[in-house]
Amino acid sequence: MSRKKISKELRQKLKEKYNCNCGYCETPLKDRFHIDHIKPYHNDGECEENNLIAVCISCNLQKGGMPLEDFRDFIEDKLNQLKLVANYEIAKRYGLLEEKPKKIKFYFERIKK
Ligand SMILES: [Zn+2]
Repeated sequence: MSRKKISKELRQKLKEKYNCNCGYCETPLKDRFHIDHIKPYHNDGECEENNLIAVCISCNLQKGGMPLEDFRDFIEDKLNQLKLVANYEIAKRYGLLEEKPKKIKFYFERIKK
């Protein structure tokens, strides 16, 4: 399977599919954004429209080649990762932040079309 080039038209269509927001985190997409393979390309993910999603650069770099469920676990674990930073406990003690652990549903899943 060879990697298909994604046309400008398809990039634009994918961007608009989720209201020009990142399909994972819902952040508005800027001029520069990435197209991700929901099922990773190296893991038989196809270069077809139903496997492609417009996402912010941050989400794409975080997800890398992870399958979607691994990415979900990775994001859900962010709170634990933050707890490793000393300032986190201090900020929590002073009520500057509130923990809200939850199951992550990606934006494209919440507004599935
Ligand atoms: Zn994002």
